[in-house]
Amino acid sequence: MAKAKVNTDEKIEVTVEKRLKALYELQQIDTQIDKIKILRGELPLEVEDLEDEVEGLKTRLEKFKGESKEIEATITEKKNFIKDCEALVAKYEEQQNNVRNNREFESLSKEIEFQKLEIQLSEKRIKEAKFQITQKKEMIEEVESKLAERMGHLKSKKEELDEIITSTQKDEENLLKKSDKAQKQIEDRLLVAYKRIRNAAKNGLAVVTIERDACGGCFSKIPPQRQADVKLLKKVIVCEYCGRILVDPALVHAEVEA
Ligand SMILES: [Zn+2]
Repeated sequence: MAKAKVNTDEKIEVTVEKRLKALYELQQIDTQIDKIKILRGELPLEVEDLEDEVEGLKTRLEKFKGESKEIEATITEKKNFIKDCEALVAKYEEQQNNVRNNREFESLSKEIEFQKLEIQLSEKRIKEAKFQITQKKEMIEEVESKLAERMGHLKSKKEELDEIITSTQKDEENLLKKSDKAQKQIEDRLLVAYKRIRNAAKNGLAVVTIERDACGGCFSKIPPQRQADVKLLKKVIVCEYCGRILVDPALVHAEVEA
């Protein structure tokens, strides 16, 4: 874009053009590094969510198993109780053979009837408990199969994450080397400004192109005169709203095509 004028201005033009191109190149490299960091930041979250889910399923499984055991204990208890009742019935029936009068016989009959009702009630409770156990078993099986499925998913996600971490680490190292190299092409004063703007910007962009008459960083309209100044390449110009360094897209897009 620099005009081939043979005068002292040309030196300045070329210098600013070179500076801006170097800054823009550095920005592209640093943006790629930012993207890798974001990608790596999101993946562990996915794994964490899965780990939480697996933990939750394990807890539910333990709870169901515990409840199942409690019901089993109730059944045993009721069975023992029935045995005691039966023993009492046998004892009372035995005693009925040796009663002295009708009143004693009737009294024992009532006891026997009472114990038999207790047995019936306990048998009913056992039946209910057995039904509950069947239900719990189904629930346990359901949770177990879901747990197995989620654990398998977690395992493959973890492997995927490890793979991505390894490969992005390589990419990141290469990019960091490129960034270092690119930084050496830029004078300290400008580099300090670049880093300061980049740190302050949420999206990490310190160097942006003008797109549709607006700043590519904050999207504020750039007045025509300022746009013309940017195109002139006489000095480094920043967006008056966000402070980002503005670059004429033609300057850097020509670079990409080349
Ligand atoms: Zn701006």
